[in-house]
Amino acid sequence: AKENLRRTLERIDGRGYPAYRDLEGTYRFEAFQLVIEHVQSDPFAPPSRFRVEMGLDTTGIPEELYADPVRRTAMEDFILRTAHQRLKGWRQRRGSGKSGLIEITEPSQVVIPRSAVEIGHSRLTVRFVVGLPARGRTVLGRQAQEMILEDIPAWVEESFLWKSMDQNNARDHVALAVDQAALRRWMAEEKVIAFVADGAILPRESGQSDKPMGRGAVPFRSPESLRREVRLPSGRSVAGMAILQGITLICGGGYHGKSTLLRALEQGVYNHIAGDGREWVLTDPTAVKIRAEDGRWVRGVDISPFINDLPYGKSTDQFTTESASGATSQAANIMEAVEIGATTLLIDEDTSATNFMIRDARMQALVAKEHEPITPFIDRVRQLFDEWGVSTVLVVGGAGDYLDVADAVIAMESYIPKDVTEEARRVVERFPSGRRAEAVGPLPAKPVRKVRELGRRPKPGDKWKVEAKDEHLILYGRERVLLQAVEQLVEIGQTRAIAACLRILTERADGRTSLDELVRQLLAEMDQKGFAALAGPRGCPGNLAMPRPHEVAAAVNRLEGLKIV
Ligand code: ADP
Ligand code: MG
Repeated sequence: AKENLRRTLERIDGRGYPAYRDLEGTYRFEAFQLVIEHVQSDPFAPPSRFRVEMGLDTTGIPEELYADPVRRTAMEDFILRTAHQRLKGWRQRRGSGKSGLIEITEPSQVVIPRSAVEIGHSRLTVRFVVGLPARGRTVLGRQAQEMILEDIPAWVEESFLWKSMDQNNARDHVALAVDQAALRRWMAEEKVIAFVADGAILPRESGQSDKPMGRGAVPFRSPESLRREVRLPSGRSVAGMAILQGITLICGGGYHGKSTLLRALEQGVYNHIAGDGREWVLTDPTAVKIRAEDGRWVRGVDISPFINDLPYGKSTDQFTTESASGATSQAANIMEAVEIGATTLLIDEDTSATNFMIRDARMQALVAKEHEPITPFIDRVRQLFDEWGVSTVLVVGGAGDYLDVADAVIAMESYIPKDVTEEARRVVERFPSGRRAEAVGPLPAKPVRKVRELGRRPKPGDKWKVEAKDEHLILYGRERVLLQAVEQLVEIGQTRAIAACLRILTERADGRTSLDELVRQLLAEMDQKGFAALAGPRGCPGNLAMPRPHEVAAAVNRLEGLKIV
């Protein structure tokens, strides 16, 4: 079969670029199978899609390193990092455009499933792209032979065979994931929603880079009273600050590290690689960052717990708008997060609408409740926990009224947290806020919306596609789906996978199934079948990464054409 490939390449040498199409197909090599899935149309077009499949027994990777989902994801991630690393050294230009390129997805700091490397059905599947070489638009057959018959097999051997891997690193990589999973289980049992280990490095290199800050970073140090120590399966122990379910405030002066701590908690829904500085910063995996997002679309969301009696009788139990205000957008973000199963909300006053967060005693005196549609978050945050089991971690520098409702208060001082819960109690006694609670009655049932339509369904033959333009922008047909405020996306591969989900869910929405069910069912299929569950007309690309249900739902919720039953 490999011989076929050689003959085809000899035959098409010197012909026009479209002759490369003849390569599409499956070829047997000694140790693996090469599938040329899709050939690019010219040297400047997106490169061609290749796939390598290999029996796991052929790789020699010890089974205990991928025996369960946690280990499997870690091992896949390790293999991808190795393969990506090994490609770095020897990329060669071999002609015009993308000629000579061999490229595999670059992983970020997190460990999540990706379509580039998948272990399943006793096979290792690797997806990557190749720029088939050309001079101008003429096939360079000999160079293509070098790439496909020599370079790729050499790379496969260096990257995917256990004997050529850094075995100690591989074992450490998997052991870390196992420890992180164990710590997450401990957290769930102990009702801990966030854990930040002593020694963790929270600040990042820059706004652009997710790598740890180098010199000058102050390592995290837990307050004595909040410190817990946990022994993990590898034998190591980690000690650090445990934030319990309920309502936790992070206060402290400006520039003392509050937002940096909260951002680390936002990212703690994912596991990070060793050396990231946040490998022991773990958060309830369903935690959602909530912020104001004025201007966003909102479609049929019950925001009545927070906003009621809008001027001119506009209803808020199925609130729809083309341009939400700061407060209505923040209310919608909370209700949507709860709908998709968030049990922790993460809120920073820097990105909140002030009038959504608080109405102090003086404003209550000046503007009668009848003229104020907003029931501020401060009056619902306790109910969110008591009635819905939803915890909140809140950064507040200014709004001292929140001390009334907090279970725990952490003060950041020069990047070091202090437990000031007791002090806060005394302050509350000495300086009563004087405000009246404004929530009338309990919360309604948790929101559930049935989806009739995500957008107009394309007719057969329509030129309709859904595509991630960048990490925070999806093109859905002609429509731009803005995800700038969806801050827990970490890789563009997740956004691409979400785009694929939107395409599939557009077909599936039936007016009977809730958004939560639709999303969870699709993600469960991905768990089972791998990324092939998202395959489109051209198969499964190698640049997808696993999103959380929350981010998939966030994209659905920002669709203009979303119709709720
Ligand atoms: P706040 O929200 O309290 O105003 P930030 O979290 O925005 O403060 O932090 C202010 C600055 O301090 C940021 O530039 C951040 O990178 C830096 N910083 C935060 N935590 C640390 C730390 N542990 N060590 C060093 N620098 C830090
Ligand atoms: Mg801040």
